[in-house]
Amino acid sequence: MQTNLADWARDTDLGKEADEILRRCVHCGFCLATCPTYQILGDELDSPRGRIYQIKEVLEGVQPTYVTQQHLDRCLTCRNCDTTCPSGVKYGELIDIGRELVSERVPRSPGQRALRYTLRKVLLGPWFAPLYRMGRFVRPALPGILKSKMPESRPAGKLPTNPKRHARQVLMLTSCVQPAMMPSIDAATARVLDAVGIGTRYAAGSGCCGAINFHLDAQDAACDQMRANIDAWLPLIESGEVEAIVVNASGCGGMMKDYAHHLRHDAQYAEKAAKVVAHIQDVGEFLAPLAAQLKAKVKRAPGRAAFHPPCTLQHWQGLRTVNERLLTELGFDLQVFADSHLCCGSAGTYSITQPALSKALRDRKLTAIHEALPATIVSSNIGCITHLQSGTSTPVRHWIEVLDEVMADD
Ligand code: SF4
Ligand code: SF4
Repeated sequence: MQTNLADWARDTDLGKEADEILRRCVHCGFCLATCPTYQILGDELDSPRGRIYQIKEVLEGVQPTYVTQQHLDRCLTCRNCDTTCPSGVKYGELIDIGRELVSERVPRSPGQRALRYTLRKVLLGPWFAPLYRMGRFVRPALPGILKSKMPESRPAGKLPTNPKRHARQVLMLTSCVQPAMMPSIDAATARVLDAVGIGTRYAAGSGCCGAINFHLDAQDAACDQMRANIDAWLPLIESGEVEAIVVNASGCGGMMKDYAHHLRHDAQYAEKAAKVVAHIQDVGEFLAPLAAQLKAKVKRAPGRAAFHPPCTLQHWQGLRTVNERLLTELGFDLQVFADSHLCCGSAGTYSITQPALSKALRDRKLTAIHEALPATIVSSNIGCITHLQSGTSTPVRHWIEVLDEVMADD
C-alpha cells in the first residue's frame, strides 16, 4: 500500500512504525473472511482492510470523525486477521496506534467517557471483590446484563500446604478480576502444579497486567502497571527464585507477552521488559512438557468436551495446538466444531461497550459448539468462560479446573 504521511507523523517513531505496517498491505482482502465484525456487519469499514485504510487516512492528515472511531471501536482486537494475512501485516499493532491517534482527535461523548472511567475504576479498584460478592448475593434481583456477568461460583477448595517446599517455583499473576469471579481457577492451577512438584507464589507489588486500562483509552496508566509488575517480578527471576511466570488467563498472558513491545521506547524499562517476557508462559504451554507426569496422576476420564481456544491464546500467543495436544494427551475427548478460529465476542470489556455485537458472536459460537454435543465446554480465559456461560446451561470451565478434579481422589 502506497502511503504519503502528513508532516506531523512522518518523523515520529509512531509514524514510522505505522508506515512500515501499512506498506506491507497488498489489499488482497484475505483477512475479510476471518474477521468476525465483517462477517456480522458486512461493511468493509468494519473489516481489517477497511480499518487499515481509515488509519492510513488519519496518518495522511484526514481528520477522523465519530464514525471512524466507531469502526475502530467495533474491532475486537482478536488478531484473527494477523493470523490470516499472507503479507505479515501486524494489524494488532496498527489498531493500537490508530485508536490512540483517533482518541486524541475525536473527543468521546460524556456518556462514553463516564462508562470507560467507571469500568476502569470498578474493575481495578480494591472494592471490586467485595462488590462482586455482594452482587452474587443479590443476583436474582439484578438486571440481565449484570446477572450474566456473574456465573455460579465454584468453591476454591484447599490450597497446597507449604508450596515453598518444592525446589521448582513459579510466579502466578495477582490478576484483577479472576480471583473474585472464579477463585477455583487459581486454586486448581496451584494444586495441579503442586502435584507435579512445582510451588506457586505471588510477588508483592504486582497487580493487574494492564489490559483493562490499555483497552479503555488509558494507555499511560496501563504502562505504569506494566512497569510496577516488572519491578515486582524481575528481582525474583534474576535471583533464580522462580523459573517462570505461569498465567492461566490467556487475555492477561497475551498482554504480558506484549510488554516489551509496549515499553520499547522506554529507555529504563525496554530491556527489563524483554527479560520478563522471556519468562511468561501460558499454563498449557508450561505444563505441556509435563504431560506424561500429569497423565499418570489422572484418576478418571475428563469426558467429552469442546475446547474454545480464546483469541488471545490462538491468535495472540499462537498456542492453540499446544493446548489441544496437551488436553488430548491428558484424556479429554475433544470434539471438533465449526469456526473455532472465530472470536466468541467476549474480548475484555467489549461485551459491555459493544453488547449487541458481542451477544451475536456469542450466540453463533454457542450454536456451533452445541452441534458437537459436549458435556463440558472448556477454555483458558476467564472473560470467554463467563461470556459463554451467560448463554448456555452446558457448564463452561477452565480446563485446569477439570484436570484438577479428575486428578483428585474421589
Ligand atoms: S490479508 Fe493482509 S495484505 Fe491482504 S488486505 Fe488483509 S491486511 Fe492487507
Ligand atoms: S482484530 Fe479481529 S475484529 Fe479486528 S479487524 Fe482483525 S479480525 Fe476483525
